[in-house]
Amino acid sequence: MKILLVASEVTPFAKTGGLADVAAALPRALARLGHDVRIFMPWYHSVSEQRLATEPLNLALEVEIAGVMRSAEVRRGWLGDIPVYFLDYPEFFQRQGLYGTPAGDYPDNAWRFGLFCRAVLDALPQLDFQPDVLHLNDWQTGLIPVLLRGERSKDPFYAGTGTVITIHNLGYQGLFPAETLSELGLDPALFHMGGLEYYGQLSFLKGGLLFADRITTVSPTYCEEIQTPLFGHGFEGILQGRRKDLLGILNGIDCKQWDPERDLALVAPYSAAHPEGKERNKQALQEQLGLDADERQPVLAMITRLATQKGLDILEAAWPRLMRRSLQFVLLGDGEQHHREFFRKLQNRYRGRVSITLGFDDSLARQIYAGSDLFLMPSHYEPCGLGQLIALRYGSIPLVRRTGGLADTVRDADQTPPGNGFLFGPPTATALLQALDRALKRYRDSSGWNRLVAGALSEDFSWERSARRYVEIYQQARESRKKLN
Ligand code: ADP
Repeated sequence: MKILLVASEVTPFAKTGGLADVAAALPRALARLGHDVRIFMPWYHSVSEQRLATEPLNLALEVEIAGVMRSAEVRRGWLGDIPVYFLDYPEFFQRQGLYGTPAGDYPDNAWRFGLFCRAVLDALPQLDFQPDVLHLNDWQTGLIPVLLRGERSKDPFYAGTGTVITIHNLGYQGLFPAETLSELGLDPALFHMGGLEYYGQLSFLKGGLLFADRITTVSPTYCEEIQTPLFGHGFEGILQGRRKDLLGILNGIDCKQWDPERDLALVAPYSAAHPEGKERNKQALQEQLGLDADERQPVLAMITRLATQKGLDILEAAWPRLMRRSLQFVLLGDGEQHHREFFRKLQNRYRGRVSITLGFDDSLARQIYAGSDLFLMPSHYEPCGLGQLIALRYGSIPLVRRTGGLADTVRDADQTPPGNGFLFGPPTATALLQALDRALKRYRDSSGWNRLVAGALSEDFSWERSARRYVEIYQQARESRKKLN
């Protein structure tokens, strides 16, 4: 099949979270299955800084946004053997962040990603790449199905192109003032409750959910959850209505990119066959972060976007009691200002026991996965979660809330048959601490703990199985598109 994956972030070019990992690992897995897969993403400042070998394709795209005709360019680069098309429009994308700054989102995000959606569809005929399926991801790409079903419905180039949109996080809906609709040149007739309107605003994601041929999300449990009011963010009705076109496919991780045996960021390699190196990574982490050099102290880690979704309020409520336990705590995170403030204040308060790093740092993240014993994800909701999968791959045992993809990938070690981590249900400090105490008890039983780590190191989270499921969905999307013609 000819597949175009469209995403607003792709590892290693640009990343704020798990979407970027998926948008690189899935195409690689699809290419291994023999498909002609390509990627489209914006050419951000952070991408141009990497000095990649790319070539301008001289497409001269003209897209009108907010009454101004804008000339954009496309550059072609590579992710291994996979062509990556970068949309180059400096006024919108040459900025420090992908979507905004710690103070908030960029005010013109609708224009930025509206331009992106239109430009992708304008570019493909010129690139002479006629995809069987467009795989779209999150709100940033949500207008593409709207355009294909609307103003481009008679375009023969796209007559055989199905669309699949994947929800990586329903909490981000791409909401903008109503007048954005006309600024983006969309049909005003689309602005109603059964269309793109969401409580008086325009929602990019709603457009994608209404008009894509198939909808997927990133775990079976989250797929069920988002059809209920508690997790549906107001979209549960639409999702129930599209139930037969909706499916949860669990994310994998790219086991080559995340491999403690080959990871150059680590001081010592290790694996299920040779787990000894993990201890050296723990020592190095303690030294590097100014923690007491004590191998018997369990290191509890978090690597996360600092967003309330991630259950930081639960951790914050548990904090004084957590510090009464015998452990070291490491956090690497970036995001919302009020959470940054909470952790910034802790930075120098617990010398030798707590390390807080505010920022995004891939190499430090790898060292933390390798050097930690326990990996905490107390999320309120978690579409899939990659953190717990990477942690397992690096032998750091997940301690997570039982929700979404966490519930699908972590099984409790205190159950029979014994699982790979520790789970808690209620979103409370007490429940978190009870699960933590069970984990700490296991940690003190060193042979039991070593068995747990050995089990984690030999688990398989590769993409292949999920990639095959995506191919099935792509085929279905293409069939339903054809039936519409
Ligand atoms: P989400 O996509 O909601 O942010 P996931 O658990 O699915 O959460 O994916 C998070 C990914 O981003 C993981 O690869 C994690 O290692 C990485 N990550 C998150 N925060 C940071 C950070 N501050 N520095 C480096 N990597 C980070």
